[in-house]
Amino acid sequence: MLEALGERLGAIFDRLANRGRLNESDVAEVLREVRVALLEADVALPVAKEFVNRIKEKAVGSDVLTSLTPAQSVVKIVYDELVELMGGAAARLTYSDAPPTVYLMVGLQGSGKTTHAGKLALRLKEQGRRTLLVAADVYRPAAIDQLKTLGRQIDLPVFDESQGDPVKIARDGVAEAKRLGIPTVIIDTAGRLQIDDRLMVELEQIKAAVKPIEILFVADAMTGQEAVNVAKTFNERLGITGVILTKMDGDARGGAALSIHRMTGAPIKFVGVGEKVTALEAFYPDRLAQRILGMGDVLTLIEKTQSVYSEQQAEDLAKKLRKSQFTLDDFLDQLRQVRKMGSMNDIMKMIPGLSKALPNVQIDEKDVSKTEAIICSMTRRERERPEILNGSRRKRIALGSGTQVSDVNKLVKQFEASRQMMKQLGGMKKGRFPKFPMP
Ligand code: GDP
Repeated sequence: MLEALGERLGAIFDRLANRGRLNESDVAEVLREVRVALLEADVALPVAKEFVNRIKEKAVGSDVLTSLTPAQSVVKIVYDELVELMGGAAARLTYSDAPPTVYLMVGLQGSGKTTHAGKLALRLKEQGRRTLLVAADVYRPAAIDQLKTLGRQIDLPVFDESQGDPVKIARDGVAEAKRLGIPTVIIDTAGRLQIDDRLMVELEQIKAAVKPIEILFVADAMTGQEAVNVAKTFNERLGITGVILTKMDGDARGGAALSIHRMTGAPIKFVGVGEKVTALEAFYPDRLAQRILGMGDVLTLIEKTQSVYSEQQAEDLAKKLRKSQFTLDDFLDQLRQVRKMGSMNDIMKMIPGLSKALPNVQIDEKDVSKTEAIICSMTRRERERPEILNGSRRKRIALGSGTQVSDVNKLVKQFEASRQMMKQLGGMKKGRFPKFPMP
């Protein structure tokens, strides 16, 4: 997500780094480029303007012009402003003192409301909070079935009355949760393809009837500025308390992530990163800013890792890494584990400096079985010390695994990349990023 913007900014700052001392016109030039990069990422014009102005003010008032490392000073200012732009501190869900806690999902049709009602319910379940999902989208019958399927998948109850008045369904749903002693209710509401007054009135009525503690606006990040405009309208009518930005796994340019908070005042609370019910991440402005600026996102990576590794596994791995005993057997094992966390290429992007250091390393998601065959055709010694793999050994392995020598070469290269990534991770200390002056 936001790769293009990250690359653009990275290129601007790299050029800056090669300049040495800066004068005012250098800074003005850089800011112009930053502004263009933001607009190309589909950031709303007033947001981009304000962003650049704030950087200008800060740069003038700081030591950028006299600094011996001006590029780093500029990056630091941009980082701080990016974090601020996206809402500063991470915003969490609010719970009600008088259960059930009611969350209302609102947004346009196709934005991902139903999917994210399920994702959110699963997340709460993992935290020990049960949810009753309420199907109040009566205009799209498939939405009710979709929610029921999701409910079965995550083993949570779904309340529906098939048809009738969505306001009544919402009210009855909350009463049912109370009766059953279920602490959380998530109401999936109807969407339209565009803003529609009747829908807004209906949502206002549901809001008045069930008094949700949170109204979560579900925004499709792929629609960029349009998502921001729609968010503004929903906010004016309903007063949204948070945003769930969906489809951030796609090639969303990022405009919505950067503009929506400034344009609505509502914080982004979660991002959707895939169709699977587990593809939900809490939104941390600082981590995303780090990702955009190519500093990786170690904390999210660690959280993902924790969700698939046991502590013992993690400890064993850390020990191997420390002793540089990481072998191709371990690599195969990691590959299988890491695939559980999501796309390998996305994961690699979270590691500071890695995408810059190895811009062309692409891991083919479908290649694990091939990889397995290749590793299985190696001798124990070869797996432990891949540096002994000369031409004839590689030929033998290719033959044995039914692959090409080029496949074997590719795998060895990937292994080396992976070793490097592990080394970086192993050497990383919390709060310290390579080549970056953190406070
Ligand atoms: P609703 O009309 O707002 O309820 O939208 P749905 O929940 O039915 O989602 C619309 C489509 O977007 C479905 O095909 C979902 O699988 C897909 N979708 C939802 N969230 C995400 C996401 O975070 N990433 C991706 N890639 N697809 C998503």
